[in-house]
Amino acid sequence: MALPHFLQNLRYIHSDADITKLQTSLNLSLARVLHVYGDHTGLLADTGIPPLQLTRYIHLAQLHFRLTIIRPDTLPALLFKKLNSSLPLPNLHTSTLDYHIRYATHAFKVDLHTDPLPDMSSQPTKNRERAFRNMMRKRVSTLWRGELYNAARTHVGQSPGRKAFYVQIAHDNLQRLDLFKPAQFLRNPHNQLPLLRLRTQGTNYILTHIHLSNTHTYTPYANQYCPLCFPLQTPGNETHTLFHCPHSSPLTQPAIDDLMLHLRQFDLWA
Ligand SMILES: [Zn+2]
Repeated sequence: MALPHFLQNLRYIHSDADITKLQTSLNLSLARVLHVYGDHTGLLADTGIPPLQLTRYIHLAQLHFRLTIIRPDTLPALLFKKLNSSLPLPNLHTSTLDYHIRYATHAFKVDLHTDPLPDMSSQPTKNRERAFRNMMRKRVSTLWRGELYNAARTHVGQSPGRKAFYVQIAHDNLQRLDLFKPAQFLRNPHNQLPLLRLRTQGTNYILTHIHLSNTHTYTPYANQYCPLCFPLQTPGNETHTLFHCPHSSPLTQPAIDDLMLHLRQFDLWA
């Protein structure tokens, strides 16, 4: 998959509908390349690819930083300054680059007039731009983390879905400062894809991961009962299948014992 293809001209795409279309094709492309067909949000979060809508804010803020703070005397910067009217945000046309830059900087409370990294002013331009990008990535990560945790909250009378379960499983991993980096387990070369499938609810041996029943009808997540435990109505989710189900959990026991043994060897488990 060519991620740069999706990011290259992001700052010039002004319509939300176009961004949504691009996001859909990015999701599909990512799922196809990895052969992980689980929850898209989970897949994006684990692989360190925040939504394009949020990444676009960073690109716009970066452009603004370059035009006004880092290189204010270049031709594009002078043109930008000339065309960049002093009109208040609501008076700007929503199809202009100016509008989107100001919207993005407003959303992240970035001061447009002062250098956000004054300590770095004597450093090479490249370093300053990179530091600014990293600063923006952390802000966007905080914003996205909040959105994810919110999405995982279940309201009264509503059963949690795939996304909520992903956030529950990945809760600790989502606390990393920079969500533009992949989750820790993807940074080592062992068994990444099976784990990714398990976390994003994309396996076909855990019942709650299967969208449609044999009769091609949709069953709500909470009503996907473990068929092995029938007639008991126990949701056949990860915890049940791997740890509690009297029929399938004994299969995972040797792997769990092995893991515990290794963790104890390295003093990682009490
Ligand atoms: Zn069971």
